[in-house]
Amino acid sequence: MRTPTSPPRRSNLPPLRVLLLLPTSTYRTTAFVEAARRLGAQLTVASERPSTFEAAQPDGLLTLDFQHPERAADAARRFATEHPIAGVVAVDDDTAVAQAAIAVALGLSGNPVAAARAARDKHQQRMLMSAAGVAVPQFSLQAIAADPRTLAATTRYPCVLKPLRLSASRGVIRANDSAEFVAAHSRLSRILTAPEFAGCGEWAEKFLVEDFVPGPEVALEGLLVSGRLHVLALFDKPDPLDGPFFEETIYVTPSRLPDAAQAAIAACAQEATRALGLVHGPIHAELRWNDKGAWLIELAARPIGGRCSAALRFTAGERGRGKGDVSLEEIVIRHALGMELPALERETDAAGVMMIPVPGAGVLRDVQGIDAAKRVSLIESVEITAHRGQELVPLPEGARYPGFIFARGDSPSVVETALRAAHAKLRFDVESPAT
Ligand code: ADP
Repeated sequence: MRTPTSPPRRSNLPPLRVLLLLPTSTYRTTAFVEAARRLGAQLTVASERPSTFEAAQPDGLLTLDFQHPERAADAARRFATEHPIAGVVAVDDDTAVAQAAIAVALGLSGNPVAAARAARDKHQQRMLMSAAGVAVPQFSLQAIAADPRTLAATTRYPCVLKPLRLSASRGVIRANDSAEFVAAHSRLSRILTAPEFAGCGEWAEKFLVEDFVPGPEVALEGLLVSGRLHVLALFDKPDPLDGPFFEETIYVTPSRLPDAAQAAIAACAQEATRALGLVHGPIHAELRWNDKGAWLIELAARPIGGRCSAALRFTAGERGRGKGDVSLEEIVIRHALGMELPALERETDAAGVMMIPVPGAGVLRDVQGIDAAKRVSLIESVEITAHRGQELVPLPEGARYPGFIFARGDSPSVVETALRAAHAKLRFDVESPAT
């Protein structure tokens, strides 16, 4: 890999501008703002809802319609006539499609729009990947309105039912027999027919049924540079994900899987990106590993979700600022702006994050033990993101973690132990819904 440099010298020219696409105004931007600042880049933040500050900061904020990527691209093009844009970054699945459209409209590096669209839809993903010979579970697309008993009778078990476009494992349910299938179907059907998804389009009327793939699961964080996948980090997920719901908890890197397994996992992820036609920017993929090899469970054309990226730090390389000083966001912005990249090597320490499991259904009244959790050796931070009075909804209906715990240490096992010990100190006071 190339060594790092400071931003390209543009003597009399204004700094390069990056356009950051945010799904909601509540998305945490601190890491991107900080990364842009360190790089001396200008930042324009685009989100779907107009901000009251937009008039005061006409070059810093922009409203874009992400649901209509072509419209978003037109608006970005108009904006860019006055405020030239050198790169565009998306942080989630929806904005990744708008990002691709904007990159095409502005002549910037990016993914083909069709590839970003395919990555956004679990069925299209499965079709392209299986056609290309990537190891994916056997799957079938079903209508949520179909008779579940008939489907259950012809399904192979264990299986997984899943919606086409939700995230954070929402609506993903394992069924081991036909009775469980019918129960899972009714639960998924309630989720997809809720007002939140009414009128969202055809995808909410369908779901996937696929073989359950056993074996440990990993999350791969990568960067595609001209089509070539650079693995930035491979996270083990030490809590077994056997269902019936698939709550994310601990991510720890580096992976403790054997080197050969890690290489096979990286190769599978690379093949998957080719199958989709993705060539540029960050990817986040979930894969499983078993005696048949690596299996692609899901791949998204975006970086790991908001807060978890804090678990990742990269070396700046020979001429850089020293060990573990470069954030994932900095790498993503550098790449989007066509700036030289650092070594793309993670720091030498092991690192981990726990997405704190939802402690139960109900209204969060209080969280105790935060200071004690922070005092656990190797713990870097404990961030409770749920607020008092917030309704907590467990999977499969819910999708938000109440908080995050971060740790760093000499080895993955001490990091994992620290995360568990810190979590054990937390006491969530949740008022159950009246029955
Ligand atoms: P989401 O985008 O909502 O996270 P995924 O398709 O990634 O949805 O599924 C969420 C989790 O469910 C995965 O990380 C995995 O643990 C589990 N899962 C999904 N499909 C399968 C499958 N076919 N076999 C085994 N586990 C699966």
